[in-house]
Amino acid sequence: MALENSDPNLNQAADLKPLEVTKNGDTTVLISTIPSGFAIVENETFEGKKIIATRAFLKGELLYIGHAALLDLSAIRHKFTVQINSQDGEFLSKHQNDDTHSVEDFLLQNPSESKRQCYGWDGFMNHSCDANAYFPLLYRTPNDMCYRAIALRDIFVGDEVTCDYSLFDYHCTGHEIKVCACGSPKCRGEMLGFQGLDLCDKVDILHLVEREIKDKFMKDENVVIHKSHLPQGIGLVTNNSGTHLIATRRFGIGEPLFINRAELIPMDEVVDRKFCLEIDGKYALLDAEQHFIYRDGYAEMLGFDSFMDHSCEPNCEQQYLSKNEYVVRAKKPILAGDKITCDYMALENSAIGMENFGTSSFDCECGETNCKGFVVC
Ligand SMILES: [Zn+2]
Ligand SMILES: [Zn+2]
Repeated sequence: MALENSDPNLNQAADLKPLEVTKNGDTTVLISTIPSGFAIVENETFEGKKIIATRAFLKGELLYIGHAALLDLSAIRHKFTVQINSQDGEFLSKHQNDDTHSVEDFLLQNPSESKRQCYGWDGFMNHSCDANAYFPLLYRTPNDMCYRAIALRDIFVGDEVTCDYSLFDYHCTGHEIKVCACGSPKCRGEMLGFQGLDLCDKVDILHLVEREIKDKFMKDENVVIHKSHLPQGIGLVTNNSGTHLIATRRFGIGEPLFINRAELIPMDEVVDRKFCLEIDGKYALLDAEQHFIYRDGYAEMLGFDSFMDHSCEPNCEQQYLSKNEYVVRAKKPILAGDKITCDYMALENSAIGMENFGTSSFDCECGETNCKGFVVC
């Protein structure tokens, strides 16, 4: 299959060859080459093996190009054998693999097929709830699935290379990890496939999953995704208190930070749906109460600006230019890293000829000396 990709990392033709599938009597044997930079070693924390890095990789670096063979293993009850060779073609080891080394092929269009994604040497990669690699699909043919492995953070020599199984296994039937032993501080306690994650975790890893998983998620959870784009000088930070809009450069008094155009969504489209923003490739969940401004018959959705915090002594003010377009200006000098804030109560009143139908309210914790304490907007 021709590969339309000019990425210089992908010019090693050997990496683009599918796994070799052979038969030894009744046994299906997958011949797999372990790339340089990795080793399969015994796992000291639980029974089995693990993959470690034998050289360092930087965040975002291509770790290797991997392949899964798409095989119907139903006749042999999901069992196959993997042979692992070195890059020089030297035989290293052979393993009888059961179905924990293959995954139900979520890309199948025809449910009567029973193909599974059968992995070679990297089938020994363990799950982590805070994995250091992910695997965007490169191409597929009827029998081969080719993907990149990309470092999600810096990986050092000796580090275990891990993946989040819920990225590519939606239902995880038969593969559930009831008690996760990944040992990460972010451990979710179990691994039940993408479907089994809580909503926040789904949104958190949504930028790492294939389109088919994202489509299933949107259908199952009744999620609508809107795209938004951060203007120059504006950023988002997420910490324990949520996601906040910040300045990434300084702004002087009176200087416009950005002009934003709100999307006006008819009320009947808002009811019972969940809304998610795709902001420059990452996803954020919107809270129907917190993040929308309700008008007569529709809701105003502000995109990236949904994450601007309220303050009773804000550093910005908002002025509407038209029904759904407004400018945000600095009321005070703003430094890079400062949270961008406005007074939600003033914001509502400034809308030209538009009454706010929302009755959301919250206890304000802005910490200013003139804090109103209770905000109704
Ligand atoms: Zn875990
Ligand atoms: Zn306040």
